[in-house]
Amino acid sequence: MNLVVGSGPSGVAAASALLDAGKPVLMVDIGRELDPRWCQASRYFQYSADDPARKRVFGSEYPYLTDREAGLVQKGTKCLASGGKGGLSAVWGASVLPFPDAEIEDWPFPARDLHDHYKKAAALLGIAGAADGLAGRFPFYAPPSPPLNPSLQARAVLSRFDADALRSNGFTFGQARHAVSAAACQYDGTCLSGCERGAIWNAAVAVEALKKRLGFEYRGGVKVLSLEDRPDGVRLHVAPEGASRTVIDGEKAFLACGPLATARLVCGSFGAPAEGLPLLSQPYFVLPLILDRDVPGAPEEKLHTLAQVFLELEDKDVSKHLVHLQIYGHNEVIADRLADAARWAGPFAGAVERHFAPRLLAIQGYLHSDEGVPVRITAEGRGEDCRLTVKAGDASATKAAVRRVAAKIARQSGELGFNPLSFMLKVGKPGEGNHAGGTFPMKKTPAAWQTDALGRLHGRERVHLVDSSVLPSIPATTFTYAVMANASRIASEAAGA
Ligand SMILES: Cc1cc2nc3c(=O)[nH]c(=O)nc-3n(C[C@H](O)[C@H](O)[C@H](O)COP(=O)(O)OP(=O)(O)OC[C@H]3O[C@@H](n4cnc5c(N)ncnc54)[C@H](O)[C@@H]3O)c2cc1C
Ligand code: SF4
Repeated sequence: MNLVVGSGPSGVAAASALLDAGKPVLMVDIGRELDPRWCQASRYFQYSADDPARKRVFGSEYPYLTDREAGLVQKGTKCLASGGKGGLSAVWGASVLPFPDAEIEDWPFPARDLHDHYKKAAALLGIAGAADGLAGRFPFYAPPSPPLNPSLQARAVLSRFDADALRSNGFTFGQARHAVSAAACQYDGTCLSGCERGAIWNAAVAVEALKKRLGFEYRGGVKVLSLEDRPDGVRLHVAPEGASRTVIDGEKAFLACGPLATARLVCGSFGAPAEGLPLLSQPYFVLPLILDRDVPGAPEEKLHTLAQVFLELEDKDVSKHLVHLQIYGHNEVIADRLADAARWAGPFAGAVERHFAPRLLAIQGYLHSDEGVPVRITAEGRGEDCRLTVKAGDASATKAAVRRVAAKIARQSGELGFNPLSFMLKVGKPGEGNHAGGTFPMKKTPAAWQTDALGRLHGRERVHLVDSSVLPSIPATTFTYAVMANASRIASEAAGA
């Protein structure tokens, strides 16, 4: 029996590949689910006003572990760990784009080895997208389903772009791609606080589909405390909810707990390097924009509030790697921020809101992890007592890189058709963009605390890390799709497929 720990996107991708190879799978998972009482109150949609990045789902924070539960002390970082069924995909923004091959030349295997697995991951995710200007540089790998209808604002942005001028200035663009069923979407505009229709892909639903496959078993409510790599197999020490601690034995283990929970398990089980471990993250920023024209009908229309447009930037003067920009139109967060800002206008606040709402947009931008803030993880204690301290270093180079992106957008505002509100630029702390990993990077010749191309630490033949922990670098494009493809690749190669 192969043991997969975690039911998020990487766990589901690994389990699916193992089943494809004819290997039985037991998936063990903390696996918290939405309390049915929240379901009854599901019309009360809400995002966390203090911290919009910490999205709630129908008002609940069930997918997240608290730092205390996750054994984390964060110093200057803002990383999340999940204890939910489906992992962080219960709250994700469902944006998908593969890593361009040229951006992963530093990985220890040819980029083409991921192509078949992008296809498999696409089959799990059901990618909705348009065959537009992005398709040449960012293949679909499997035929997409029809895209979500772009909002009026997004249509205005795309039609206003001066395509030739933007291309010659390093921009590629198109409609955002999502792991969403456009057919199921009712355009009720609540994507940031809960999708009642289940149109947004959630790995928890994929787990239910896996349960129908021969050889798959799911055990939720089970926290893995540590593991042993034994000559004859692996042993998990687990704490099942409401029952005594016990062990689960298997042939191989595939750890898919997310980078920090996986690091805690590895360090709690096998020890930790005194010098600490690296944590790579994509620099992340939010930059409000104002369109240079009015958009009649916006934002009252029925719309989705996920990313609307992807804008990719390649300009060596800005960054030696590709920069990924997601443009959002009217949504719960922008509406709230605008309402706050309009208060100064007293009785005219409503008029101010009506004037600006159709023209306000925001970019969520991501850069390559090479531009990221250096972060070290140190670990103390064994087993469930293992504690990780995650400490950020100097952020000045990262902030400078983000400012170069904002300045480029300002310079090209004539061709883009919008102006950045650069005084409102917000650079996230490491981890805030939710794309982090690289703690045990895959290498051709791994040193201590690095992994081989199958995600195995030196001398730990039966333990495969399959989540973002093993990424040698993190290109800027939205990363879960590539993490799933890599998890699928590792699992199928480990299964001898
Ligand atoms: C608000 C938000 C928006 C996002 N938007 C996007 C987006 O648009 N596009 C994108 O590509 N990515 C996005 N992400 C990131 C994406 O959600 C993650 O990359 C993805 O969920 C990682 O998958 P994973 O399976 O590796 O880990 P996780 O999703 O973190 O899942 C970890 C799993 O491990 C289990 N687990 C943890 N510890 C243990 C343990 N000790 N024992 C047993 N089980 C354990 C948990 O219960 C969980 O099931 C977003 C994330 C957030 C928070
Ligand atoms: S608009 Fe968003 S929340 Fe509403 S059904 Fe569509 S994807 Fe789900």
